[in-house]
Amino acid sequence: MEFLDWVDNRTLLASECIVIVIFATMMFGLRALNPGLRGITSVATGVLCGVPAAFLFTSVGHIPIFAAGVVGGAFTFVSSILLYRGVLQFCCHQLERGEGAGGRKAVITKSADTPNRGMPVLYAVCVVAFLALVYFTHGRSATAPCVAIITMTLAVSRWMMAWTLYRCAGGRTLMILFSISMGVFGIVSASNATITLFANGGAQFMQRGSPQTISLLFSMIFFCVQGVFYLLMFAGDVTENVHEQARLDHLSGTLNRRGIEDALAGEMERRRRSGGSFALLLIDIDHFKAINDRDGHAAGDDSLKKVARCINATIRAYDQLGRYGGDEFLLLLPQTKEDEAVWIAERTRDEVRGLVSEMPLTVSIGVTCCSAVEEMAEVLSRADAALYEAKRAGRDCVRLRDRGEMRATTSNMQDFTEAVLPGEATTV
Ligand code: GH3
Ligand code: MG
Repeated sequence: MEFLDWVDNRTLLASECIVIVIFATMMFGLRALNPGLRGITSVATGVLCGVPAAFLFTSVGHIPIFAAGVVGGAFTFVSSILLYRGVLQFCCHQLERGEGAGGRKAVITKSADTPNRGMPVLYAVCVVAFLALVYFTHGRSATAPCVAIITMTLAVSRWMMAWTLYRCAGGRTLMILFSISMGVFGIVSASNATITLFANGGAQFMQRGSPQTISLLFSMIFFCVQGVFYLLMFAGDVTENVHEQARLDHLSGTLNRRGIEDALAGEMERRRRSGGSFALLLIDIDHFKAINDRDGHAAGDDSLKKVARCINATIRAYDQLGRYGGDEFLLLLPQTKEDEAVWIAERTRDEVRGLVSEMPLTVSIGVTCCSAVEEMAEVLSRADAALYEAKRAGRDCVRLRDRGEMRATTSNMQDFTEAVLPGEATTV
C-alpha cells in the first residue's frame, strides 16, 4: 500500500512515545491538581512505562534480541498491570461512593470487586508470558514469537480492562464507549499477534510497509483514543468531586443548604412519581448563642460538629442530613410516616441531650410529613412552624405539624398545652 511508504515503524514508535509522554504529563498534572483522584497515578505511570518499552522495540537489530524482547516485554507487562490496577482503583472508588455519575448504580458490587480482584489473573498471565519471552530469546533470534507473546498479553489485559470498565459503567455512555474501544483495542493487539506469527511479520519487523506497520498504525490511533478516554474519565470524576464539594458544609461535614434542598427536591419528585410519604425534621440547637458568648466561637463550632455527628450516627443510610442555617439542621427521612418520624425525632433529641459538653446541649425539633403533591416551600414552612412551636413550648422538645394542624408529641406535653391554647395550635 502506497500510503504506508511514507511511514516507517520506527517513526511510528517514536511518535507513540511522544503521545505517551503528553498524555502521562496531563494525567500527572490532573493528579497534582486533584490529589483525591483514584487510580490516576497508576494509570499515568503505566502509560509512561510504554516509553522505555517502545525505545527497546525500536532498537531491534541494534541491540541483542534478548534485551529488546525480554526487557521491552517486561516494561510492557508492568505497564499493563499498572493500567489495569489504575482502572480497578478508579472503578472501586466509584462504587465506594455508592453510585456512578448521573446517579446510576454501577453493576459490580463492592464486596465482589476489591482493587485486587483480577490482579492475580493478570500477574499469572504476565509471568507466563515473561517466561515464554525468555525461552524464545535465549540463544536464538526469534522475533515473531516475541512480538506475538507481547501483543497477545496486551490483548488479554485490554479485554480485562474493557470488562471492568463495562461493569462499572452504570449506564454512562462515556464509560461504555471507553470499554468498547478498549475491547476493540484488544482485538487489534490480538490480530497483531496473529499477523506477526502467521504472516511472518516478525522477520521483517521494523521494515517499512510490513504487516507490522499496519498494526502499529492502528495501535497508534487507538492509543490516542484511549488517552483521550482516560482523561475524560478522570476529568468526569473531578467534575463529580467539585459538585459533591459544592453540596457539603465543611464545618459539620453534612450537606449544606443547597445540598439538602436538592435532596428534598429529588425526594419530592420521587414521591410525586411513586407515591408514599417522607418526613422532614428541622432541628435547631437551643440557646446556641449562649455557648458562643460564654465559651467563644470555636466552642460553638465544636458543639455544631458534635450535634451533626450525633444525628448522623443514628440515621439510616438513605436519610439525608444538611445544615440549613447557622445552628439549624434539616433531616430528610424518605419513606417515613408521621409516627415513625416523631419517634426518630424523640430519639435524636434524647441522643443530643446525652452528649457530654460543658454547657447543656439540647435541640428543639419541628416535624412534618409530605404525602401529597405540594410545593417545597409549603413543606419547609410547616417544618419551620413546628420548630417555632417547639421553641415556644420551652425548647428541648418535638412538635409535629401535619397539613391540617399542629400536634404536640410526647415530650414537653405539659408545657405545650400550657403555652398554646387548643384553638391557637390549629392556626399556627
Ligand atoms: P434558640 O434556642 O431560640 O434557637 O436560641 P439561639 O441562641 O440558638 O438563637 P439562634 O438559633 O437564633 O442563634 C443562632 C446563633 O448561631 C447565632 C450565630 O451567632 C450562631 N452561629 C451561626 N453560624 C455559626 C457558626 O458557623 N459557628 C458558630 N460558632 N456560631 C454560629
Ligand atoms: Mg438555636
